[in-house]
Amino acid sequence: MIARVIVDVPSRATDRPFDYKIPENLNGWVEVGSRVGVPFGGRVLQGFVVGLAPYADVDVKKLKPIAELLDHLPPLSPDLVELARWVSEKYCCPWTTALQVMIPAALKGKADSVVSLSEEEECSEERTGFLTEESEPWFQYIRNNGEVRLALLQERFPEAAAGIKAAIRRGTLREEISIRDRLKVRKVWTVFPPEDTAAAEAALASASSRAAKQQEAARYILDNPEPIPLAALAQALSTTTGTIRGAADKGWLTIREMEQQRDPYAGRGFKRTEPLPLMEGQQTVYNEIAEALDNEAARVFLLHGVTGSGKTEVYLQTIDRCLKAERQAIVLVPEIALTPQMVERFKGRFGDSVAVLHSRLSSGERYDEWRKIREGRAEVAVGARSAVFAPFRRVGLIIIDEEHESSYKQEESPKYHARDVAVQRAKQHQAVVVLGSATPSLESFVAASASRSQEGTASANGSAKQGATLLPMPERVAGRPLPKVHLVDMRDELKGGNRSMFSRQLHEALLQRLERGEQSVLLLNRRGYSTFVMCRSCGYTAQCPHCDISLTFHQKSKALRCHYCGHAEQAPTACPSCESEHIRFFGTGTQRVEEELAKLFPGIRVIRMDVDTTTEKGSHEKWLTMFGERKADVLLGTQMVAKGLDFPYVTLVGVIAADTSLHLPDFRAAEKTFQLLTQVAGRAGRHELPGEVIVQTYNPEHYAIISAQRHDYASFAQEELKHRRFMAYPPFCRLILVTLSHEQLALVYAEGEKLASTLRDLARSAGVRGSDEGDGSRFIDILGPVASPIPRMKDRYRFQCMIKYRGNVGASELLGQAISLLSGANGQPPVTMSVDVDPQMIL
Ligand code: ADP
Ligand code: ZN
Ligand code: ZN
Repeated sequence: MIARVIVDVPSRATDRPFDYKIPENLNGWVEVGSRVGVPFGGRVLQGFVVGLAPYADVDVKKLKPIAELLDHLPPLSPDLVELARWVSEKYCCPWTTALQVMIPAALKGKADSVVSLSEEEECSEERTGFLTEESEPWFQYIRNNGEVRLALLQERFPEAAAGIKAAIRRGTLREEISIRDRLKVRKVWTVFPPEDTAAAEAALASASSRAAKQQEAARYILDNPEPIPLAALAQALSTTTGTIRGAADKGWLTIREMEQQRDPYAGRGFKRTEPLPLMEGQQTVYNEIAEALDNEAARVFLLHGVTGSGKTEVYLQTIDRCLKAERQAIVLVPEIALTPQMVERFKGRFGDSVAVLHSRLSSGERYDEWRKIREGRAEVAVGARSAVFAPFRRVGLIIIDEEHESSYKQEESPKYHARDVAVQRAKQHQAVVVLGSATPSLESFVAASASRSQEGTASANGSAKQGATLLPMPERVAGRPLPKVHLVDMRDELKGGNRSMFSRQLHEALLQRLERGEQSVLLLNRRGYSTFVMCRSCGYTAQCPHCDISLTFHQKSKALRCHYCGHAEQAPTACPSCESEHIRFFGTGTQRVEEELAKLFPGIRVIRMDVDTTTEKGSHEKWLTMFGERKADVLLGTQMVAKGLDFPYVTLVGVIAADTSLHLPDFRAAEKTFQLLTQVAGRAGRHELPGEVIVQTYNPEHYAIISAQRHDYASFAQEELKHRRFMAYPPFCRLILVTLSHEQLALVYAEGEKLASTLRDLARSAGVRGSDEGDGSRFIDILGPVASPIPRMKDRYRFQCMIKYRGNVGASELLGQAISLLSGANGQPPVTMSVDVDPQMIL
């Protein structure tokens, strides 16, 4: 047998499978999806097996053998390998780049794969059915040796591949990777019940009342014999670890070091929830999705439900339906919304069969969650965009909550969009995709409306070809009203002599909430990096010497840093340009709002959430918990306060400057503004107390702002689509952005010109029309080269070409051809070309 291997060298020249012999001792071990080490160009490199074949296209004798197998179980399944190929073709990236994004980081390095027996309690009940395993020599060997390396097992038990793999899949054996420095086992001091509980009980009964806290600790662990981390118990009892150690000295409890479970949500005791009886609107939607699930039809639904319409309950019940059919479910939520609150709703319904994947986990934690999925110990994966690759065997349902969020697009290679990948994965598995949003992206909305009216005008869009079905839920649960939104024209405030960042109306509303003991959310709509340095005398701003971008001021280190290249310098005390001392360091916008709040409302308790206050692990969660416990009056923040939060005492939402995102040079600026305002307004009055929203703006007549005020998605979409059609922007066409970069300005520009003209020639000879004539037919238009919005980064000049097209014109293929034509003997073009298919960020 030979194996076709994609070697992990991400370049165009090596982007094809290479053939290797499977050596005798690896027979039965190597599968499609296995990770192997293979000799390549004089080194041993990692790669993935993407195919097996009985013979090679070349002379078998010349083939080199696979050098090593890296895991017991293949990390990827054949369908994921295939999906990776699709990603590489659609997003113009090497196959290996797409394969690598599917595995957890912990698996990327050089590591030993080891197996050991699972701990007793983790073995499934089925285990007793396979007792014969215990008589196997390899089983005995593993039992006697504890941890055994893969290479050793292969050598000793060449025939045992199938048996060992089955034992891992069943959970009798546990596969681990031992990267000593990267995945260190954490040990924590843990409280256990005392050795002699009877003696402890007796001692407690006769103890004096002096050591009350120690008694409380002892009482706790006697009543709840589950081991609990020492620090957690101390915190729960509002005492110190020293006090509890004192109780251990008396023999009232035991303290030992225990290996810490890496499940970051373990032991948090999620409250079990039961399905709610569905409201009428929910029921209709549920029925449609359930029918598609039962039919195992690859369908796409757009669940357009206003904020508070009960989308999550629909998700939960459809997931339940999916699990009952023994298929698994994936739930994608934007990274920023992946809060404990959100996770709790899924864990609360499905308990431990939920795996959670997000970037704030350590690499060990992520690996554990991923393994839980692969080994069938989890049936629901909740995570950010890469969870779309969760290694389930039978995916039945993929839910994408807040489907309009731009974080579903990965900004580095592979620059995939999780929504499109989800649709493709669903096709492979005959699964259902549910896209949920109160403010659907115009792409999804047009796709769903087009398939409904059978117009097919939106053939430019990928999901349109899929034919999505629109499922509206226009009412909030239990007839709760949508909050009233007031617009305040800030120009009138200025005219009236109010120079504060708070209008009189917002000021008053905040005061009122303080008096009533209710809570408020304040949003500062500010994208980008708002901490910069400016000279008040001459207008000088500090720029990075390597990139055309302002430097960012870091309060803590008093340093200026570049966000793109990491360049750092000391903050100046006088202006380097005019030597004036009036050089100012502007803090983040939220910082200034916080100061202003403290001035206007003495004693006000504010929680500020922005990039500065949420870098620490778990900080997000800490702030939200505090706010939920009503330990603050105001939650102030950037975009991150707009998403998915649900607090019953929030009755006021204030937007300090609605328009800052409205005038960005991005064709999605109005859409983004509308989405943000609608989302944040949805945070108010979700429970018994009615809510009110105050939006401060300088553009009260802009349709994005007026539509958001009226909760009127339809009229926003209608107006915005008019502009998009007129300008020929998505969803009426598709885009591919190519960025060229190099140290030499002249070379980048020349190559950009060549790329554009080659593309135009290729398109012409393929017989595709060169521009949009507004009649909906296919065309391809090549714009540029022009300087990129950031024209220089890390000392490299940047130019870009934009490909605009509609219909099936083979744009990616044409681009691939053009790049090949510009490439030299090494298979690479002379300047770096980075391709972004369906770009979300034009800026
Ligand atoms: P969305 O995700 O659409 O913004 P949620 O799913 O958060 O809305 O639901 C809003 C509120 O309504 C939640 O507090 C939820 O518990 C409640 N809810 C949802 N469905 C029902 C139902 N069928 N009966 C009663 N309450 C419900
Ligand atoms: Zn100056
Ligand atoms: Zn820089």
